[in-house]
Amino acid sequence: MKTYRKILLAVDFADHLKVVVDRAQSLTELYQADLTVLHVVEYIPLSEPVYGSVLPLDIDLTEQLAQAARKRLHTITKRLNLPDTALRVEIGSPKSEIIRVAEESKADLIVLGSHGRHGIALLLGSTATSVLHHATCDVLAVKLKT
Ligand code: AMP
Repeated sequence: MKTYRKILLAVDFADHLKVVVDRAQSLTELYQADLTVLHVVEYIPLSEPVYGSVLPLDIDLTEQLAQAARKRLHTITKRLNLPDTALRVEIGSPKSEIIRVAEESKADLIVLGSHGRHGIALLLGSTATSVLHHATCDVLAVKLKT
């Protein structure tokens, strides 16, 4: 029977977070696997060379969001009794960062929600669809009703 050694859980802090986290935790226990919890902060450009400066601010908003994400992820890893090394925050496109981190960490299973903060207009959300198409390992899209 196929067993999983390294599970990558992708979280977006949407309402259904607990359902997806609990599923990943059960699988981690079942397979005695290593679990990494990832959140990707989407890059927010404060200036765009083509248009000049958009905002007259000299702050790195993206880095502040990454720090806030680290704090929120820490509450999850703490609840799951995971070491700090199990927590990852990346900046970029969620679709490609989830794939990149999965390959880099040699994950053999990615767990994510069937939908995220962008609602349930589609059968599968766009992040879930893209990860399912591009991942080189198994992907579990936990079916979320709302
Ligand atoms: P979506 O396809 O965007 O509706 O999201 C589906 C699932 O992808 C979510 O339930 C999360 O598990 C994961 N996901 C979406 N956005 C992110 C993100 N920024 N960082 C990590 N995981 C994400």
